[in-house]
Amino acid sequence: MNRADWDAVRKDFPILQRQVHGKPLVYLDSANTAQKPEAVIQAVDEFYRQHNANVSRAVHQLGSEATEAYEGARKRLAAFVNVHPNDLVLTSGTTQAINLVAYSFALPRLQAGDVILVTRMEHHANLVPWQLIAERTGAQVVPVDITASGEIDLSSLRVQLKAPAKLLAITHVSNVLGTVNPVAEICALARKAGITTIVDGSQAVPHMPVDIAALGCDFYAFTGHKVCGPTGTGALWAKREHWQSMPPFFGGGEMIREVRFEKTTFNDPPHKFEAGTPNIAGFVGLGAAVQYLSTLGMYAIAEREQQLLAYASQRLESVDGLRIIGTANNKAAVISFLIDGVHAHDLATLLDLEGIAVRSGHHCAHPLMQYLGVPATCRASLAFYNTTDEVDALIEGIARVRRMLG
Ligand code: PMP
Repeated sequence: MNRADWDAVRKDFPILQRQVHGKPLVYLDSANTAQKPEAVIQAVDEFYRQHNANVSRAVHQLGSEATEAYEGARKRLAAFVNVHPNDLVLTSGTTQAINLVAYSFALPRLQAGDVILVTRMEHHANLVPWQLIAERTGAQVVPVDITASGEIDLSSLRVQLKAPAKLLAITHVSNVLGTVNPVAEICALARKAGITTIVDGSQAVPHMPVDIAALGCDFYAFTGHKVCGPTGTGALWAKREHWQSMPPFFGGGEMIREVRFEKTTFNDPPHKFEAGTPNIAGFVGLGAAVQYLSTLGMYAIAEREQQLLAYASQRLESVDGLRIIGTANNKAAVISFLIDGVHAHDLATLLDLEGIAVRSGHHCAHPLMQYLGVPATCRASLAFYNTTDEVDALIEGIARVRRMLG
């Protein structure tokens, strides 16, 4: 895609036209949540104006339109990541998805002495559920080391991938370091050792074509709001044999076949794991989001973001006293950094006054911060709708903040 096309794409996002503190918004926090294009906003609006009803329970026209829209969104989402829709359970996000694996799959299987391997770069969503399961079962959570550049240390992982390890929790892309992990290679090693793999795809699915079927993992979780969809949406893919063997996690409406006081039988997956009224309008919006991204093309998006990443990295590296945290060879457009003598929170607060939104803090990865020996980082995360002019605005903003702080 040429520059003019990306300029047009940017106009699809109404929020990017607004001002913040009297300055044009420069939104560099897409790893936190992505902005929403008009197509998504309209799809949600149209659902509530024209089709709103509950799914699966009503025989009336609106009920069947809502069910069709919800199941249509599942099909679109499944096609987007190359899996069968029946193997894709819709969740409120990655957090719910990983907890579902933890409580329904891992809890009944683990016992004292077992090991759950968790990489040092995991978001709390792919660590804390494992700690809770370890507490209940007597299993142990063991960290998988990373290298100085922020890549998985494959040689030490190879040693760990054997009994008593039972599970490996690994992120596809780090939300702090930007590292793209070689998950297909790692899952192949784990599979050979009989270890179940849970991949957190939250930061991968928005930025690159993801073919879950080709990764060879057991579970893959991702979240809708980072894929330009509404908040409160996400999905969990699992191998069919796992869905078949897992008991339901939540019980209630929608997930049953027949309920008697003596005994209840359950619906087939994926419905067996979707108790209660889902975020129907949210998923309709997510369906529109993945259609929008597919029209742009995920290869084109990845290429565009790689160009922005290269430009931003090179400009940031030239800032005196600035250190980029996470220098893996294969990175997504996430740049964590520290500046000598400037606290990350002060920098983010002062940049905000310039209309520039970056995130500062621990990025829900406390153990990674402890490992790196820093309390917090500043993080600029880019999406295809950002521009090199916005990167320039960040660099100028940093220079102004430094002058201000003397
Ligand atoms: N994993 C990673 C790598 C993330 O970046 C996030 C969101 N910051 C999550 C998990 C959690 O996603 P959600 O809050 O949408 O469940």
